[in-house]
Amino acid sequence: MSDPILRVEGISKTYGGPRPALAGASFELAKGEILGVVGESGSGKTTLARCVALLERPDAGRVIFKGEDLAALREGQLRKRRRGIQTVFQDPYASLNPTKTIGDALGEVMLVHGLAVRKEIKKHVAELLDQVGLPTTAADAYPKSFSGGQRQRICIARALAAQPEILIADEPVSSLDVSVQAQVVNLILDLKDRLGLSVIFIGHDLQLIDFIAPRVLVMLAGEIVETIPADRSIADARHEYTRALMQAVSKLETLAG
Ligand code: ADP
Ligand code: MG
Repeated sequence: MSDPILRVEGISKTYGGPRPALAGASFELAKGEILGVVGESGSGKTTLARCVALLERPDAGRVIFKGEDLAALREGQLRKRRRGIQTVFQDPYASLNPTKTIGDALGEVMLVHGLAVRKEIKKHVAELLDQVGLPTTAADAYPKSFSGGQRQRICIARALAAQPEILIADEPVSSLDVSVQAQVVNLILDLKDRLGLSVIFIGHDLQLIDFIAPRVLVMLAGEIVETIPADRSIADARHEYTRALMQAVSKLETLAG
């Protein structure tokens, strides 16, 4: 890759369990790319997301964002630089503070990062809500007024409030009703195109991730065990585990259908 927006080199994280949660993961993300990450539960996907976004410092390795290793920055510098990489997590219920209105939650992000002056916050909040398909009136409401899908839209708006260049979506639809999953996936794809974001889209369903992302990384036990390039089908996956992931889903579909 000639000029990636992100280059991750050998990042590892051990939490105190017998095995590392993340064991030397390396990959690149091109500007404007949507990169898929797939793996069974416990394979280290969320740890990868948290370490790449520097919400957690990796024990080793480098996270080079626009030429600068974020993992090596001191806390003060890091706080400024990691704004460019925002994350949306699986559970929109756990992600929003129930005591804050949506407008305050979004406005706070802009104020913290110095991205807007106070008297313009209301206008910016309305723009953000519009971008994620929510009415302007949502600004004055509390999280309890919203469904899971709407809350996930709010979480996406909050990530966008920081004006990121990279969006990491960590199983963003896994806890939502099947009926709204496609809408939220399409929203993320649409925002990627409109805002020129680079996206890391994480999931456990290989066929869904392959549908969303041209290039897919496959994780097992904290390692990236296979990269499925854009021009190759998941049906040609080389790794036995990748084929097992595919069959696991097909089996579920057979059961359901
Ligand atoms: P995934 O998102 O693929 O399900 P995770 O990254 O959440 O995987 O977890 C990878 C491994 O690290 C698991 O064995 C999990 O139990 C462990 N782990 C994750 N977070 C923590 C933590 N905060 N403390 C201890 N162990 C953790
Ligand atoms: Mg996870």
